[in-house]
Amino acid sequence: SAQQFDVVVLGAGAAGLMCAMESGRRGRRVLVLDHADKPGKKILISGGGRCNFTNLHARPENYLSANPHFAKSAFARFTPADMIALVEKHGIPYHEKTLGQLFCDRSAHDILNLLLKECAEAGVKLQMSTSIRNVQKTGPGFVVETNAGEIRAASVVVATGGLSIPKMGATGFGYDLAQQFGLKIVECRPGLVPLVFSAQDREAWCDLSGLSAEVVASARQKKPQAFREKMLITHRGLSGPVILQASSYWRPGQPVTLDLAPDSRVFAPLLAPKARRDANAALLALRTILPARMAERWLAVHTPPGLTKDWTNASIATLEQRLHAWELTPAGTEGYVKAEVTAGGVDTADLDAKTMQARNVPGLFFIGEVVDVTGWLGGYNFQWAWASGVSAGQAA
Ligand code: FAD
Repeated sequence: SAQQFDVVVLGAGAAGLMCAMESGRRGRRVLVLDHADKPGKKILISGGGRCNFTNLHARPENYLSANPHFAKSAFARFTPADMIALVEKHGIPYHEKTLGQLFCDRSAHDILNLLLKECAEAGVKLQMSTSIRNVQKTGPGFVVETNAGEIRAASVVVATGGLSIPKMGATGFGYDLAQQFGLKIVECRPGLVPLVFSAQDREAWCDLSGLSAEVVASARQKKPQAFREKMLITHRGLSGPVILQASSYWRPGQPVTLDLAPDSRVFAPLLAPKARRDANAALLALRTILPARMAERWLAVHTPPGLTKDWTNASIATLEQRLHAWELTPAGTEGYVKAEVTAGGVDTADLDAKTMQARNVPGLFFIGEVVDVTGWLGGYNFQWAWASGVSAGQAA
């Protein structure tokens, strides 16, 4: 005897819980299934344990997708202000850290507790440690086969997330299910991920691991998206918020372009009348912008050989230009083990933008990270999880 529900949500993460709460509030009988032993594990580790739960400035332009317009409808349905209202309703203290990023003052547990409490009040049933073996369409609805028996439901919402951090239970389940039902997948790749140097750059830079600087970084030559934040040299390559941001736009084989001294003419002092024009003067100038060892190394790598003293205007200009457009071609990324998100996913062309329902499979919905909508670093990905979850929750 199968259990019967109106809606079965697969995945008790950010998107799944939000969807369940919204749907339950509409009086639907909702069951959330998850193979993990506890819900919302990624919420708990997010934002360094404080959950950057939204961004005040979240706009469709802050997301990558094969169809940049797809997310607009969901974002209009549930805005950052709506999330803030929910957070305030629960008396959760929060603050803006930087660039519109809102974090809990205390802990990410506050956000998870909010969702679990709302779900409980809406009558949502949560069933953890349940593996999903199979999902089949049956006339008007679906049969979900699990290790704990069969479940029947009119709607199935897939909220199983992306491939990042496999040790936390990430699986390709959502993508497989989408393909089983004939939906296309936009090729997945790690996003918001540190970049790994080529062997040559590793040789030149990795002993400086731990040093950081504020830079402008961009990837992709056509219509580059530039970010200005902190960059960190690691023992394998580059990281820090600016690199994570650029990484989502990066493709193998392409360079990343770095402006190491945004908005300043670093070597201008060398051009003054009677100023010294040599390596020492250049180092002195660059040290006002970069950590000393980074400045030294950068000049050692970039000063044309043979340049001794009395540099010409042209050679100073060349150095200045290189400093603002340093091109590095990474060997790769640190992969899903370190990626905060999965870029790519269920093709939005196969989903209805208002409801997240599969166009050709009535009753089947996809929300959150499993969909080909990927946010920047800074609370954007949770905002997508909430907004897509609410959209499906109002329809399922
Ligand atoms: P998830 O939250 O990943 O939930 C998916 C759920 O599905 C999980 O509970 C999982 O156990 C379950 N599941 C998976 N496969 C199966 C299966 N086969 N059967 C049953 N259940 C399954 N974003 C921000 O906006 N702000 C942040 O501060 C932030 N910090 C982050 C920090 C880290 C370290 C990481 C890795 C990510 C961070 N993100 C952040 C991204 C954010 O966590 C995700 O975008 C978001 O959690 C996606 O929500 P989701 O519900 O789609 O997927």
